[in-house]
Amino acid sequence: MFARRLPIDPRNRVHSRFRGFIFSVPVLLAASFLTPSSTIAQPTEQRPSVAAAVDRQQGDNLLEQLTKERWDITDVFDEEIHLYLSQEEFDRLGEMGHSVRWLEDHTVEWVEWLEKPDALREKSQFSYPTFQEMTDQLNDWVDEFPGLIQVESVGQSVQGRELWFARITGPDNEGPDFRPVVSHVATMHGDEMAGTPLAMDFIERLLAGYGEDEEITWLVNNTEIWVMPLMNPDGYADGIAPNSRRSNANNIDLNRNFPSWACGDQDTTSGRQPETVAIMEWSAARNQVVLQANYHGGALVINYPLDECATCNTQCGGSYSADEPLLREIALAWARPNQRLSNSTRFTDGVTNGAEWYSIYGSMQDWHFRFRGTVEVTVELDNNKIPGSTLLEQIVLENRQSTIDYTMWGHQGLRGYVINNHGDGVPVAATVSVEGTEFNVRTDPVTGGFHRPLLPGTYSVMIQPEDTDDVYTFRNVVVNEGIATPRTFALHGTGYLDVWMIY
Ligand SMILES: [Zn+2]
Repeated sequence: MFARRLPIDPRNRVHSRFRGFIFSVPVLLAASFLTPSSTIAQPTEQRPSVAAAVDRQQGDNLLEQLTKERWDITDVFDEEIHLYLSQEEFDRLGEMGHSVRWLEDHTVEWVEWLEKPDALREKSQFSYPTFQEMTDQLNDWVDEFPGLIQVESVGQSVQGRELWFARITGPDNEGPDFRPVVSHVATMHGDEMAGTPLAMDFIERLLAGYGEDEEITWLVNNTEIWVMPLMNPDGYADGIAPNSRRSNANNIDLNRNFPSWACGDQDTTSGRQPETVAIMEWSAARNQVVLQANYHGGALVINYPLDECATCNTQCGGSYSADEPLLREIALAWARPNQRLSNSTRFTDGVTNGAEWYSIYGSMQDWHFRFRGTVEVTVELDNNKIPGSTLLEQIVLENRQSTIDYTMWGHQGLRGYVINNHGDGVPVAATVSVEGTEFNVRTDPVTGGFHRPLLPGTYSVMIQPEDTDDVYTFRNVVVNEGIATPRTFALHGTGYLDVWMIY
């Protein structure tokens, strides 16, 4: 049933409604698109911190020092470290004797992969929507597909822009009562802009494909899909590249602003940025988000937890949870359909453990995984943070199947309903844990439903109702490949029980 792949040929695209974003290239300008344009970035009032590189010397401890002091590192190579610097920080590094330089801002139009650039250029229909265009488009979809999409603001940015989150799911009378929540959040770094058009394209394909495409229809009916196309609207600056910036309007990097487990932070929103608070409160209100994807740019890789090393503000060369094989497999679900990711020469199969690349502290993905039991991956879409229109189209097309396959992973593993079996069979609010693994998930108190991503295998599953200390252990629970069949976990009696239900 899921063998059908989405068409990747742009001529077969299901969507034709991005009228607000349609970009037609005047023929006279075409020649200028064959060469990348670049400028040296400089800090300005609008962009107080911009990309820079500092050289590493053999045997120095520069990376360790910058990590300890929580500098805003964005990439690490053998010879140099990339980071975001204000003019003052740039000068300070120079005074410390380091060789530091501003990096160029590239706007690259295409990468030779999909088709001949001439053909691509003629077809390119993608550009960066303004905040208002994005808002209008979301509202239009609500009008056009009232049974499939709702849009709500889950907070406001520092400058008062709404943080829109679209919820896409099938009608109540289709699919199951309990649907796993899978979310996609784009552009928490305002100058990594490709994620916003990709997220809008994803929403549109879910809506336009519903009832038309078998895989999409099943996915929408069986999943509660949430998409936030723009987490940092102030930094995104209406998609106008020279005005965009990484941080929010308080000059805070939002992907360093979540509670850090390694540094012993409490899981509270106190003192955090409004964009961070919005995500934390949204997630907590969902009871259990099963999976999230977090769209970035500036590299080409899928990065999975853990980002943090066990010791706060250090580098450790890799930080592996007990769920490492599962997390890698989920990251691969995104990378596999994407040729450029799969063929990466820098990262094996296009995926990496976060800390194996470089550690950061206070990332959204580690907060979600460690504090909320949500598997989140960081999707780095392209080495160019702000691709030109033809490369942008290529990025959207090459990630279309990945958005579907990743969301589909929300249905693999262990799924069930926990009920009280004292004769009434009512749903139970409980925590579900799996022996030998790391993160727990919560049941939905209304239905008792839960979903826990797992690799195929045989497991012991522990269920603890919220209002007791009792733990119910179900042994020899077999998890198969593919879409999980829901099971009923019926809790009998009180105290520690060792039971195996046949269902
Ligand atoms: Zn980023």
